[in-house]
Formats: sequence, structure tokens, C-alpha cells
Amino acid sequence: MADQKEQPKPETRKSAVKIHELYEVKGDTVERKNKSCPKCGKGTFLAKHKNRLTCGKCGYSEMQTSKDKEEPKKE
Ligand SMILES: [Zn+2]
Repeated sequence: MADQKEQPKPETRKSAVKIHELYEVKGDTVERKNKSCPKCGKGTFLAKHKNRLTCGKCGYSEMQTSKDKEEPKKE
């Protein structure tokens, strides 16, 4: 019994990060707005969070302490 009720799912690909927005072309050079992941290498950018950067690929995270304001989180 072959089930022929296969509905083609509409492709809704929502990319969380728009790559072109991470670059900024200045003359002949391209400046990267975000930091790249030290583990994945260049091309993989760290996602910005409140006070940390995280890599969506390998899960690398980097704390960003702009000030001496570290609040211990209790989970
Ligand atoms: Zn990474």
C-alpha cells in the first residue's frame, strides 16, 4: 500500500544570520563586524548575545565583560 498523500512542504528557510550583514565593505577591504569563531575559523561568526558571543556551529562561547559587572547566574 503506497501512500500517495505526500504533500510538498513549502520551503521556508529562515536563516537566523544574514551573512551579508556581517560584512562591511570599505573601499577595497572587507571588515567583519562580528568576531569569527576561533574553533571553526574565519567565515564562521559568533552570534551576539547580551554579554557574550556564541558560535552556532561548535557551541563556542565567549564572555564579554565590558565592565566589572558580573552577575552570578543561578539556574
Ligand atoms: Zn565555532
